[in-house]
Amino acid sequence: MTLQDFKLKMVSELSSIYEMDELNSIFNLLSEDYLKIPRSKILLADEIHLDESNQTLFLSALERLKTHEPIQYVLGKTTFIDLEFKVNSSVLIPRPETEELVRLILKEDLDGKEIFDIGTGSGCIAISLAKNLPNAKVSALDISIDALEVARENAKLNNVNIEFIHADIFEYHLDKKYDVIVSNPPYVTESEKLKMKKNVLNYEPEIALFVNDSDPTKYYEFIINFSKNHLHANGQIYLEINENYKYDLNLLAQNYEYKIIEFKLDTHNKIRFLVLSEENQLEKNTH
Ligand code: GLN
Repeated sequence: MTLQDFKLKMVSELSSIYEMDELNSIFNLLSEDYLKIPRSKILLADEIHLDESNQTLFLSALERLKTHEPIQYVLGKTTFIDLEFKVNSSVLIPRPETEELVRLILKEDLDGKEIFDIGTGSGCIAISLAKNLPNAKVSALDISIDALEVARENAKLNNVNIEFIHADIFEYHLDKKYDVIVSNPPYVTESEKLKMKKNVLNYEPEIALFVNDSDPTKYYEFIINFSKNHLHANGQIYLEINENYKYDLNLLAQNYEYKIIEFKLDTHNKIRFLVLSEENQLEKNTH
């Protein structure tokens, strides 16, 4: 079987699941990873004959893809902010929106500051911040021991030091303040779940994604309240959010006397990020 033969087989067997451009990118990812050829050379490699072990690799990937398993889990890795991250089904696959959140934080001058990531999952936020802010002290919490295992591996892979904390944030008590609290908590409601694709529903960890329709902002309320005691005077909160709850979040921020720095759109023009800081901090600091 040549690489081209595999591509034709893959396109015919997956075309009911994926668009052509997605298929092309999946094919490129498999070829780069299994044949160790750079993307620019893949087109020229059409006639390469796949030896038996490569053929097994490609065909077993195809079988997994046919069940709607995401390519990132099939490969066991993905890229986030130009860094490599291991992933498996105990962590959410890092999303491009979350890269935008990290880039938003990196616009601030935060080197040397203390940062706390709540619900770290694969560690993508904490690790990419630590990598880009070599003097920052980054802590990251998750309730899932399996997720933390992945996050720890990723910290090692990317050569950064993170303090990992295994705890349920709702039960977590500490006597410490941070300069930045960041979180991409679960924010997809059970009713929105109905519209989601099988690749997300069957493979990604529910615990990282879903909240009850009856209390869709519970993580935000907790984090905003928690931050009252755990944020330094000029500290900020960076949150990835569900656009549908922007009014509730706005109200929450006001009730807890935070200043809304911005509601920010993602590249699909959805309101996706909320940045808060303590209200009247200037007045407070002059006392
Ligand atoms: N952005 C993710 C999605 O739509 C959700 C992430 C989250 O719940 N924090 O799949």
